[in-house]
Amino acid sequence: MSTAPTAPAPVTGAAGRGRAPLVLAPLVEEAAEVTAAHARRTDTEAVFPLEALDSLRRTRLLGLLVPSADGGLGGRLGDMLTATRRLGREDMSLAMVFAMHCQQVAALAQHANGTLRGELLPRIGAGEVYLASVTTEAGKGGALLSATAPLQQREGDLLLDRFAPIVTGGAHADGFLVTMRSPHSDSEHDVSLVYADRSQLEVACAGGWDPHGMRASHSGALHLRGSVPGHQVVGEHGRFRDIVTHTFGPLAHLGWSAAWLGTAEGALARTVAMLRSGRTRGGALLDSELLLTRLARVRHRLEAVAALLARTLDAVLHEDVSRPRVQLLVNGLKVTASEQCHAAVQELVDAVGLRHGYLRDSPLALERALRDLRSASLNFSNDRLLLADGRLTLLDPEVRLA
Ligand SMILES: Cc1cc2nc3c(=O)[nH]c(=O)nc-3n(C[C@H](O)[C@H](O)[C@H](O)COP(=O)(O)OP(=O)(O)OC[C@H]3O[C@@H](n4cnc5c(N)ncnc54)[C@H](O)[C@@H]3O)c2cc1C
Repeated sequence: MSTAPTAPAPVTGAAGRGRAPLVLAPLVEEAAEVTAAHARRTDTEAVFPLEALDSLRRTRLLGLLVPSADGGLGGRLGDMLTATRRLGREDMSLAMVFAMHCQQVAALAQHANGTLRGELLPRIGAGEVYLASVTTEAGKGGALLSATAPLQQREGDLLLDRFAPIVTGGAHADGFLVTMRSPHSDSEHDVSLVYADRSQLEVACAGGWDPHGMRASHSGALHLRGSVPGHQVVGEHGRFRDIVTHTFGPLAHLGWSAAWLGTAEGALARTVAMLRSGRTRGGALLDSELLLTRLARVRHRLEAVAALLARTLDAVLHEDVSRPRVQLLVNGLKVTASEQCHAAVQELVDAVGLRHGYLRDSPLALERALRDLRSASLNFSNDRLLLADGRLTLLDPEVRLA
């Protein structure tokens, strides 16, 4: 069996060429319906949405970004964003679970060697494998490009012993993509990405999960121990930065932003439906200038994020993502979407007031959307991205916007 790295394949859906067009909407609607049916309970109980995960398996949406030649749906990046937005309308936790899984799949499809691809992609394509992400480490916070836990090498195997403080869906994942310090390296900047199947690990829960929002993401702490064959390194040892630049960064920021936008779109859609219905409107006056102005502002915020999402997708598909102007765009999308989607729902709460906007049992579920969206600026800290973007801005005195 060959272990030579294959050339990175684009995540654009080129893999789907020559097949019948993917009919995505019924699959996504099925998953969205299941998600909606359980969203209130999974939030209240802070438990992982297992029913929704089952529907992602059944519809094979877990294999959306697996090329059709490898047994997946052969979807394109735009399909992933469309599906994430739709799921976000029902539950931001589930939308983030889906987007982050797809980000991991894209990393495997683009950077894994032939052996690992052959072993894993058909299983993901069949809906058998839900992938969790392990990049955050105690002490380093969100410093993605460094790692302290050392990956050991013994004969042909890689030994993992890794504490992971926050792993979305980790208790239910079938496999993990884990960052660790590369074998034989003294530098925390030599980072390797390794795939470990659940069956190859001892997975110990190392903490509970009782957060303000994103409760159904069930992102508790784990301790992972085990060994995997050497070919389960993804990309080259020490070159995780390449994966971040070409895949992890762009897909994370696009996928998360789609989840946040979907959440805010769902909040606005439910609010407008309530206001248009004489039965549920209560005392709200549709000709109130304050209400109309607030609705307009919410709509404008979402239009701006949607436009930026579309522009960033286009840039990621057609331009060199390592160029500073594209990096500025990708980072700017994440920061802008996290701020504007949260601000939009905040404004909706003020627009409709206490009963519809603040009560936990309100059918509008604005308070859940607001709690969930509060995590957006923290999920890879906006402060880190703003520092990076400030430096990049200084390098472009002519201000050539993307
Ligand atoms: C809902 C949710 C799900 C998540 N799921 C996962 C997961 O599945 N897997 C995973 O690995 N991680 C996950 N994370 C973690 C996430 O990706 C970030 O890495 C993590 O939230 C960062 O944690 P932090 O805010 O403590 O750390 P930091 O990023 O270190 O930030 C802490 C604070 O310190 C400041 N700060 C520190 N260093 C700098 C710096 N150099 N520049 C600027 N500011 C700085 C910032 O102001 C920031 O507010 C998840 C997070 C959330 C919210």
